[in-house]
Amino acid sequence: MLLSYAPRFCWRGFVYLVWGDRGLKVGLSHKPGLDHAFWLRKGYRHFALLTPPLPLGTAFFLQEYLRRHLSGSAGPSFTVVRNLLNKARARLGLPPGPFTVTPFPEALPAPPPLELALVRKILSGRILWLEEIEEALAESKMGVTTPLEDILHWLYLAGQAEVIPGVGYGDDGEPRCRRCGQTTRLLTVACAACGSSDCLICEKCLTMGQSRRCRPLYARPAEERRLEVKALRQVEPRLKYELSPAQRDAYQEAAEFVLKGRDKECLLWAACGAGKTEVACGPIAAALGLGKTVLYACPRREVVRELQVRLRSFWPELEVLALYGGSTGKYGRADITLATTHQALRFYRRFDLVILDEVDAFPLSEDPMLYYAVERARREDGQILFMTATPPPALVARAKGRRIKVIYLPARHHGRPLPEPEVLRDPFLAPPGAGPLPRLLIACLEQTMAERARLLIFVPAVRLVDEVVTWLLRERSGEETCRVWVRGVTASHPQRDEVIDAFRRGDFPVLVATTVMERGITIPRLNVLVLYADEERVFTENALIQMAGRAGRAASYPKGRVWFLARRVSPAMAAARYRIREFNSMARRRGYLVEGKE
Ligand SMILES: [Zn+2]
Ligand SMILES: [Zn+2]
Repeated sequence: MLLSYAPRFCWRGFVYLVWGDRGLKVGLSHKPGLDHAFWLRKGYRHFALLTPPLPLGTAFFLQEYLRRHLSGSAGPSFTVVRNLLNKARARLGLPPGPFTVTPFPEALPAPPPLELALVRKILSGRILWLEEIEEALAESKMGVTTPLEDILHWLYLAGQAEVIPGVGYGDDGEPRCRRCGQTTRLLTVACAACGSSDCLICEKCLTMGQSRRCRPLYARPAEERRLEVKALRQVEPRLKYELSPAQRDAYQEAAEFVLKGRDKECLLWAACGAGKTEVACGPIAAALGLGKTVLYACPRREVVRELQVRLRSFWPELEVLALYGGSTGKYGRADITLATTHQALRFYRRFDLVILDEVDAFPLSEDPMLYYAVERARREDGQILFMTATPPPALVARAKGRRIKVIYLPARHHGRPLPEPEVLRDPFLAPPGAGPLPRLLIACLEQTMAERARLLIFVPAVRLVDEVVTWLLRERSGEETCRVWVRGVTASHPQRDEVIDAFRRGDFPVLVATTVMERGITIPRLNVLVLYADEERVFTENALIQMAGRAGRAASYPKGRVWFLARRVSPAMAAARYRIREFNSMARRRGYLVEGKE
């Protein structure tokens, strides 16, 4: 499967030197005739190719190494150069190479200025494969007659674009995917494109097209922003309801983060179901008011699509572009750009404000790719706003150490406290099917039925879903015998969405699920039971907080119950309960809760 894909343009080229009165330069080129023409114009007169054609990743590393270690101005000493090249090759585990000093081929004509300008504009703020640049040109209904790789190479020579190997090497010679940033899942393959038997391919970002050692990425930071302030633009969002006091404060504080521009990063730490999207409108409005560009990134595409609808309704006169796998208009420009993390990988130094939602969401928990993508998508002086109910440990550590500005949103819109998990200990809690249902579990069921509510039961493994459903049906057959009262759902369940919809409608009262239901789902009148909650590998502190966060979201049933049923109290259970209580007491202290005011 890997080798069936062959990009049209595979970069193999030379490492070279040019020198003259103005000094010495190291470069790389797939077509040195172009470089010849370029450097002649700059007043360099001596040219020498140092290597045979090499895959881009290798040539790039050798070039960087020479640049770092080669000093002096006038003529190079080729003995020194050869030794340096061999040292660099050794870093990559390569034997001493053939060393030849060859003159450049004849100078070639430069690409026409109009075509250079067009490609420069298309590439602005992007990092793309050659094929993607072609797509972007086609989308803008423009074309060029000069080979695109030559235009891009000329821009690179002029310092107006970067050429980066898909998989390159760090200074230490360790391979690294330069698109997604990861260093581990790199495969060595015999490559049909560059002909080498040890080409490197990144497995991690394969769904975005192969990133390889011989495939160039082209990048260019965004041009200076348009300076005219869009004063006539309607930047205040038209929100559907009035913000709660907690939201209003966070909205204001987050807007000031942008207006003041002093902090580069900020964490909006929100309680589950507290409405952080509305709060995010504060910094978005502030940025737009200053004529700045905004990227709103989150890991899941369903969320991107839903956000597009909401943000368009808040700002009907602005353009909101949503990018996810299979979306159209990939290369367009808009006032607000929404993107999945994967799509954010195509931006380069483009946005003044990057909002990163659900920093910790499955399956990207603790994933460096997410940070790599947004870090690179923002301008050098751009800002990042992280938003989540459950920040990953690294971010928590920074927040606790006051190494990042934190804005808290501790209360839900309805102003009722978050349901605090009740820990139910049963030292003899049996696996499903072994013996009768635990007494405590029956109590949760009965309480739910008495309140005419619904119960979502989380279990720590996929196989347990069916086992628990069978157990419940066997032991409680008397429960609403006329129809199925309990069903199960997992991530790979064929009718996953139908089952969830039926549960949401209230067709049956009890759903057994894995952590697939952990976030992004709002069910009215819901109680939550985490069964075998001390299973720490699955039920981490953050997972437990997210699961507890499903309860009590609606104003009509704000007191949903949350139970953790387990043999013992795991540290994660204690920490989750502590965190939720902490939010409640913060909300109480700040006067955000309506309890007692009824
Ligand atoms: Zn990659
Ligand atoms: Zn290759």
